[in-house]
Amino acid sequence: MNVTSSRPQVLWLILVATLFLGSLAKAFDTVILDPGHGDFDRGAAIGYVYEKHLALDTARRVEQLLKKEGLKVVMTRSRDVFIPLQDRSATGNRYSNAIFVSIHYNYSRGGSGNGVETFYHFSKGYTLAAYIQAYLVQRTRMTNRGVKNASFHVIRKTERNPAVLVECGFVSNPTERARMLTGEFRARIAEGIAQGIIAYKRAK
Ligand SMILES: [Zn+2]
Repeated sequence: MNVTSSRPQVLWLILVATLFLGSLAKAFDTVILDPGHGDFDRGAAIGYVYEKHLALDTARRVEQLLKKEGLKVVMTRSRDVFIPLQDRSATGNRYSNAIFVSIHYNYSRGGSGNGVETFYHFSKGYTLAAYIQAYLVQRTRMTNRGVKNASFHVIRKTERNPAVLVECGFVSNPTERARMLTGEFRARIAEGIAQGIIAYKRAK
């Protein structure tokens, strides 16, 4: 085989390598964090423990961890304000190369519900949900309620990017409520979510 006939093969290899690197480069660089509820919408509430405060504090901790990893972070709210659901999903659709992570705390009547769970709507959100759920369980040792499909507005209307909604434990459960009132425990939850996102990014 002479040099001229091998050149197309070399060019073809370069093309394949470029496409491969291009597909890697398309992996997300922006994380949209969506702390649930806000202002008059307290979310789950027992006494003075409000889901809106827990979700915002947790999201801020995740934000700091992701920024340390060099990721861009967009918050749908960074204060105690009310943001309509359609504005949250509009933010979820505003960025390319992004993922959307909504952060909530749970509630069940009777107070016996416990554990963490992560929801996705479109199949492209499943893997992200699985990573976050696995790391959240590993980091907190909370009951694993699993990865589930659901139709919550923010994950149903965020169509452009992988979108998940994380339920970080039950405000209505006295044992979990006592734990989530400590910054140390909310830091663990944030680490679980952030580590799940980072592991998902590395696996892309
Ligand atoms: Zn909620």
